[in-house]
Amino acid sequence: MEICVLGSSSAGNCTLVKTKDTSILIDIGFYPRYIENSLSCIGIEPKNIDAVLITHEHTDHIRGAESFFRKYRVPFVMNKLTFQNSNLKLIPAVFENFQEFKIKEFKITPITIKHDSSNPVAYLIEGEKRMGVATDLGSTDFRLKSYFKDLDVYVFESNHDTEMLLNGRYPTFLKKRIFSDYGHLSNKQCGNTLKEVSSGSEVFLAHMSENNNTPDKAKETAEKILGDDFNIHLTFPKKISEVVKV
Ligand SMILES: [Zn+2]
Ligand SMILES: [Zn+2]
Repeated sequence: MEICVLGSSSAGNCTLVKTKDTSILIDIGFYPRYIENSLSCIGIEPKNIDAVLITHEHTDHIRGAESFFRKYRVPFVMNKLTFQNSNLKLIPAVFENFQEFKIKEFKITPITIKHDSSNPVAYLIEGEKRMGVATDLGSTDFRLKSYFKDLDVYVFESNHDTEMLLNGRYPTFLKKRIFSDYGHLSNKQCGNTLKEVSSGSEVFLAHMSENNNTPDKAKETAEKILGDDFNIHLTFPKKISEVVKV
């Protein structure tokens, strides 16, 4: 299994997971040109994407969906409420949260998470290796933690440094929203959650705020909490991450 985060921040999100025979994208918050360029950097043709999974309807996760669909006719997969609230003009395959489904060799489980959209999910993706993607969530609960136990790879939100957000220039309502159980996870919450569910894995720090975080702070916090058994990888708003093979 190879994983590359094509981009991640509140400006856009897209993660590629591939094996020899199967390639899927999780979210598509960038227009096709960026996706095409990013995929070509790692030798993949957009027409060979087998499916696009959507986590929730916020623009930074679906911005490129319609245009990518029109251009490549790739199947889209999401739950009903997310589709209804997305206003996307495409016909997706629709799942119920917690009901497993298959995309070729991958077994996928959508897990309900807490975030301020209609019905947001994290994904557990299982092939020869197992990975979890959770990019927008204000808190974690026992269900997410039980599905995310002992995975090989995590793409996990490390949105903000608490001090930076607290002392930063965001208006109070926005700070409250981000700090709430339905907002976004801090660097510390990210580290503590992963420490609880795993004893060592590959970790991509995702959805980092450009205003309330720095890559150094996020990485330092994760490394301090998680220790040497975890490999921490950064993601970037508009640049692909390294490709991690497991
Ligand atoms: Zn987002
Ligand atoms: Zn969101």
